[in-house]
Amino acid sequence: MTLALHGIAVSRGIAVSRALVWDSAFRDVPRNRIDKKSVKFEIKRFENAVKRVTDELDDLRGQLTSDSPAEFDALLNLHSLILQDPTLSEVPKELIQEKLINAEWALTQQMEVLLEQFASIEDQYFRERNADVRQVSERVLKALSGNAMSMPLPPEGDDEDPWLIVAHDISPADMVQLKGRRVGAFVTEMGGATSHTAIVARSLGIPAVVGVPRALEFVHNGDLVVVDGKIGAVFLDPTQSVVEEYQRKQAILALARQRLKRLKKSETRTQCGRRVELMANIELPDDIDSVVDVGADGVGLFRSEFLFMNRKDWPSEDEQFEAYGKVIKAMKGKPVTVRTLDLGADKTLQFGPNSGGPGLSTTSALGLRSIRFSLAEPAIFLTQIRALLRATKFGPVKILLPMLTNIREAQQALTYIDMAREQLTSRRFQIKNEVTIGGMIEVPAAALCLSHFLKYLSFVSIGTNDLIQYALAVDRVDHQVAHLYDPLHPAILRLVYEVITQSEKASVPVSVCGEMAGDVRLTRLLLGMGLTNFSMHTSQLLDVKELLLKTEFDAVHKQVKLMTRTFEPEKIEKLMKQLAMD
Ligand code: PEP
Ligand code: MG
Repeated sequence: MTLALHGIAVSRGIAVSRALVWDSAFRDVPRNRIDKKSVKFEIKRFENAVKRVTDELDDLRGQLTSDSPAEFDALLNLHSLILQDPTLSEVPKELIQEKLINAEWALTQQMEVLLEQFASIEDQYFRERNADVRQVSERVLKALSGNAMSMPLPPEGDDEDPWLIVAHDISPADMVQLKGRRVGAFVTEMGGATSHTAIVARSLGIPAVVGVPRALEFVHNGDLVVVDGKIGAVFLDPTQSVVEEYQRKQAILALARQRLKRLKKSETRTQCGRRVELMANIELPDDIDSVVDVGADGVGLFRSEFLFMNRKDWPSEDEQFEAYGKVIKAMKGKPVTVRTLDLGADKTLQFGPNSGGPGLSTTSALGLRSIRFSLAEPAIFLTQIRALLRATKFGPVKILLPMLTNIREAQQALTYIDMAREQLTSRRFQIKNEVTIGGMIEVPAAALCLSHFLKYLSFVSIGTNDLIQYALAVDRVDHQVAHLYDPLHPAILRLVYEVITQSEKASVPVSVCGEMAGDVRLTRLLLGMGLTNFSMHTSQLLDVKELLLKTEFDAVHKQVKLMTRTFEPEKIEKLMKQLAMD
């Protein structure tokens, strides 16, 4: 009989494949007492294992190519740092000596102590490092056991069947090895919607379900498994009819993808002729090819902080100018919205303020991050603005200020932008085109004081990812509260609706660039709120377009207005069902 396990759906798609289980090295850790004579040998064994993992992490970093996701390098660096920290590389040696226990036992003991300490820290960044400590320790354990470092890999080559990887957690280092391999899906016991696994799975376009309790207990190597990345379900021991049903769904999905490509070139208009602009979200300049390919109306969100991540120092003005220039040139006159550095919370650097060293810390979601950081470090902010102003020579640029909360932040940022302009003029740089300056509305305070912000901003973009996090007090990267992260909470509906309608009334262009904009289940909701500018990852754009083309604005507008007036979740659910009907 088919057994269904459920987790958090983080990357859409279907896989019907054999499982490749990445068993945790912690399962059968040898725990032995040793005599005094063996202490030296045991310590040497531990040192060798640490050295072997250090070399392996260096090697993996060396294998990265320019098109590897930026997160890989960042995370490999982080793992090297964790490994070098004396709490992991030295304390186990003391335990071997003091307690007369073998290296594996000493390492797991120390790891448990560290995990406990991390778990009790309130700071989200440190809590999230828990999984990294575990992954690094696991590598050292494998080195100690003399096993091959790497997990068994799925085959390369298109004619091979893909494998479905099931693991407790997947470390970024192991992820690197999966590039170019035939991976059908990922299933992990750990992780939330924005865990490392989820982020990389999405960037690789592979279905993934995370936070599946006890997956390793139920799945064995070679088992046939069906993964539905849309609903977060994992079917074990599927009956022939389940397999056939999902293979049929898979074929339909592939056909639909193919069919959608025909929509690339057409304008997006609803049935009643309302023009809707579909923009793209990007992280790195190389993403621009897929933006052009999908026929987006422009870049609605360039998360510029990713340019700062995969490196050991701040990018210079010239480097940034090149990077922005590449994107602007490729868009050939279509607008490019670059968000200024939105550093902090889960977006961390390997150097400077949030690399774990002393100085400013941006790792708390409520801390000195994003625009707060830029205003506290004007030299970094001015460098970025100068690069952006210079890049206007290639086409229209819109500057987007993240995480605005107080009007003073908007005023100060505008003053710095004027200052950057003056600096360039005194350096005899010509600013070809004027930039438009807008702000993210992603903090409830800004949404509630919108009219004041609209006096200073030429456009606004609603960051629903953070707006939901901050309004509902739900950490967006914590899988334990993922069920409370609800875009349909009446408070969110009101906030988003109010921002859209007030901006429209004030004739200030408004868009949504959070994940809500790319979620096809919410497309009609946002359209009904009056939204005519959506920004999302390119993989979602044609699905959203297809739905908009067959939607009548007036009809959905009426239902959505009702939805924004109720506090009853059941009523909202009912109205959402009606909205989904053709
Ligand atoms: C958001 O918060 O909705 C957003 C678009 O920005 P990020 O996801 O980068 O915080
Ligand atoms: Mg945000």
